[in-house]
Amino acid sequence: MVITPDRQPYIQPISREWYQSKVAEIAVLRLDVVHKDVSGNKWYKLRYNIQHCIDNNIDTILSFGGGYSNHLAATAAMAKLAGLKSVGVVRGNYPQLTTTLQFCIDNGMQLRAVAHEEYKRKNSEEMLGRFAEQFPGAFIIPEGGANHLGREGTKDIAGMIPSGYTHVAVSVGTGTTLAGLANALPIGTKVAGFAPMKGGAYLNEEVSEWIEDDKKSSYHIYDNWHFGGFGKHTDELLHFMNDFHKEENIPLDKVYTAKMMFGIRQQVLDGVYPADARILCIHTGGLQGNKSVGTQLGF
Ligand SMILES: *Cc1c(COP(=O)(O)O)cnc(C)c1O
Repeated sequence: MVITPDRQPYIQPISREWYQSKVAEIAVLRLDVVHKDVSGNKWYKLRYNIQHCIDNNIDTILSFGGGYSNHLAATAAMAKLAGLKSVGVVRGNYPQLTTTLQFCIDNGMQLRAVAHEEYKRKNSEEMLGRFAEQFPGAFIIPEGGANHLGREGTKDIAGMIPSGYTHVAVSVGTGTTLAGLANALPIGTKVAGFAPMKGGAYLNEEVSEWIEDDKKSSYHIYDNWHFGGFGKHTDELLHFMNDFHKEENIPLDKVYTAKMMFGIRQQVLDGVYPADARILCIHTGGLQGNKSVGTQLGF
């Protein structure tokens, strides 16, 4: 790979006081440190996609996302690092650019705004054909990096998880990261997915087609902790993030990882896990998204 990480991810234990009567261990796998501009799971989802382009002399990648998309930001940055051109198809019009879209532009990404209705058809033959015409030879990566190469990349995350952990907790957007993890972890290790949107439990079925037969019963996706819906947050969530940062010195992102940590804490306190459970929570990054709440976060 032409691009080197800033730092190797590491496992950070969580203070025992609140959980020691409930489970044996809780720790966080800090994928957020892997690269300042391509953070967390995006590094792993994009890696083999970028490599594929390099190996096949493809000079442009095209992908999709909303105005706050961690995936688009990471795609722009990683393409730039690899010397590739990038195109971002953006859901909706942003006359005033978000910090995320500005970041994409600063990293050389060409943006194409697409109306919400049209964006829904982004995976249709017709739309893909149109993009192929407008950007000849471009390699098209689905929204969220949800393709085979993305899932292969996230399998590498499982390689960083020492044996002994009984449960792995992870945020779920497309479920690409969860699928890679569930497929690569040993049978018996349970994967708890936390969907940050209303009604996200539908992902249980959607993700299932990516999961190998013998692993289909090893994961479950919960949608109880959406805090109003995707991209939404409450004061309670921001307070939790500030407290967690103060106590653990770990910054969480408001869209994904904060909702996962809140959910897992609730489950542990409710006695959902056995007393000998050793839980590893994956910090999938996404901290660039916190810029939109400004000074409400103390980190
Ligand atoms: C993109 C993202 C996710 C969702 O990952 P999927 O592989 O699409 O499920 C989770 N957490 C963070 C921080 C993200 O940026």
